[in-house]
Amino acid sequence: MEIYLDNCATTKVCEQAAQICMEAMVNEYGNPSSLHRKGLNAEHLMTAARKNIAAILGCDPECIIFTGGATDSNNIAILGGISARKRAGKTIVTSSVEHPSVADTVSSLEEQGYKVKRIVPRENGTFAAEDFIDAVDDDTVLLTFMMVNNEMGTILPYDKIIPAIRRKYPNLLIHMDGVQGFTKLPFNVKRLDIDLFSFSGHKLYAPKGIGGLYIKKGIRVNPVEYGGGQERGIRSGTQSVPLIAAMGEAMALCKRDGAAILKNYRERNAQLRALLAEMPQVIINSPEKGCPHVLNISVPGIPSEIMLHALEEKEIYVSSGSACAKGALSSTLEAYGLPAERVRSALRISFSKDTTAEEIDIFAAALRETIDRLSKVIGK
Ligand code: PMP
Repeated sequence: MEIYLDNCATTKVCEQAAQICMEAMVNEYGNPSSLHRKGLNAEHLMTAARKNIAAILGCDPECIIFTGGATDSNNIAILGGISARKRAGKTIVTSSVEHPSVADTVSSLEEQGYKVKRIVPRENGTFAAEDFIDAVDDDTVLLTFMMVNNEMGTILPYDKIIPAIRRKYPNLLIHMDGVQGFTKLPFNVKRLDIDLFSFSGHKLYAPKGIGGLYIKKGIRVNPVEYGGGQERGIRSGTQSVPLIAAMGEAMALCKRDGAAILKNYRERNAQLRALLAEMPQVIINSPEKGCPHVLNISVPGIPSEIMLHALEEKEIYVSSGSACAKGALSSTLEAYGLPAERVRSALRISFSKDTTAEEIDIFAAALRETIDRLSKVIGK
């Protein structure tokens, strides 16, 4: 029995998304910019997806542009947003635990002369809204931070940060990387006055290579690539209708079944925490009040990669830190202030909407057995 617990890295595509994707590939394969019926049919699929996603975000469909994934969205938001505001200031405020698609993009601007303020977590591993609020000043051109951290599941206090900063700086450009929180946490762009919001399909049961960016009406974002002018000229290139249709379908499903999905995450999280409490070698790194689909733990003395491959032999798939770090020690966990040994032995377990209680029981038993066996081999 295969047990996949690496859903922060990517999810299995759901049936409904796969079906509409197939339909768009084999039947409605027209170019949505073509003027004939085949093109129009493809455009209809795209329009339906835009509407579905807009309904979840609480915005007009025209506010959404489709991209090649959240890496693409984050680059467009930051580079395109800054490029359209050349005279607005020279300081960027962000967090120290961002995904590389934000962190490295911001660093590239730092090299060009922007000043970057990186907010670090407090000692208890959570972020204080005041730290962001106090960092923003008249020279700030952009505030960019993530909704939920992809390695720890920490929820950044966006609902406190954004309204407070908005009151003081109504024109400041505010971007949020929503990848790990979208459809999992309450969020609506009408209630929370945000300018740019990135999301990705493959974390939410759609295929890889598709994502989107919400752009508030009136906010200027320059393209970072030039071409045929699709997606309001901000993200040129023929749209991938099969992937877009699949993302629309998958996200509508996440919205429709949102309460049940969240209940499942919470139950699996509580179940696993209870089972881990009986394993004295395991330390839980994720905060109690984190986003419930992810649980980061450490087993000091057993390096992550060894544990990961030992579990893999039992057809159980988890992650060491984030998939993007590709085996390197996680700088994010370091930024959270975890001691080196806990960083070296960290494992990220992330649930899907379909993860069952039985799978968690099997995982916990396998983890316990593996810890006992490896502790002897490693000679702890
Ligand atoms: N931001 C966060 C928080 C992520 O977890 C990821 C995916 N690991 C991304 C951005 C990048 O998304 P994509 O794979 O769609 O480019």
